[in-house]
Amino acid sequence: QNHQPGVESQMNPRPFFDDPEYRGAGKLKDKVTLITGGDSGIGRAVAVAFAKEGADVVIAYRDEEADAVETVQHVERYGRRAQHLAFDVSNKAECDRVVRQAIAQFGKVDILVNNAARQHPQPSILDITPEQLQMTFATNVFGYFYMIQAALPHMKPGACIINTASITAYRGHETLIDYAATKGAIVSLTRSLALSLAKQGIRVNAVAPGPVWTPLIPASFAADEVAKFGTDTPMGRAGQPAELAPAYVFLASANSSYMTGQVLHVNGGEIVNG
Ligand code: NAD
Repeated sequence: QNHQPGVESQMNPRPFFDDPEYRGAGKLKDKVTLITGGDSGIGRAVAVAFAKEGADVVIAYRDEEADAVETVQHVERYGRRAQHLAFDVSNKAECDRVVRQAIAQFGKVDILVNNAARQHPQPSILDITPEQLQMTFATNVFGYFYMIQAALPHMKPGACIINTASITAYRGHETLIDYAATKGAIVSLTRSLALSLAKQGIRVNAVAPGPVWTPLIPASFAADEVAKFGTDTPMGRAGQPAELAPAYVFLASANSSYMTGQVLHVNGGEIVNG
């Protein structure tokens, strides 16, 4: 899944999780994972990386069934079980239903990856309609809350939650003001929930991606912005989804057993504060 137009392979090294020969080290053996937005982009890369490490994967998604089916096939290629479930993360009843279906099939949820999100650039804050504001927060913030509220009663000590945040929570973004605000909320949610669940042995962390080539990018930005996407990072390029996946594997595995409430920045070298 390389969404970057015209990039030379030497500028774009293949991360080991992307290597079909790489079989993982069983770091997530028999863990049941629920990934929202697991059909495409970063979520798909995480689904495949988790399968390579021995996890079963439930892919909860919205739009393209074909993408979800393809992701399921990737997971099954590594001998793991997968299920795809269409839903709207901004609807609490549908989040409850997805968790119920996951439990019915797999009996537990060990890892919840909250990753589904939307963005809709606007030239000015004055162009953000109440409907857009409502939709962005309902998807990117309420959806994370709904999924956590649905899954948590089924999670046992040792389980974990990983939230996809964004560099925009730290750096801001002049045309994605509502989106960046939702990602700031996700950083705060991660910290507070980590405190509240620490003694129950449930860890909560976040990944803050910088620019990553996914279908979200050409769908959101004009061609001239797409052409220079990621070139202002210290590494001078956007990342590939498979370059994000190792951060999620780390946060989901026992390798990060003493980490909670933290944000891992995977962004081509941007130094961010906070
Ligand atoms: P993507 O478009 O490939 O994936 C997003 C997925 O979210 C979609 O495939 C869809 O299934 C799901 N989704 C959207 N609205 C939904 C809804 N209402 N109900 C259920 N599912 C819904 O994009 P991506 O870039 O892989 O994004 C994944 C995450 O990474 C998002 O949280 C995004 O904000 C974050 N992120 C992306 C970048 C980037 O540059 N691509 C940078 C920072 C953060």
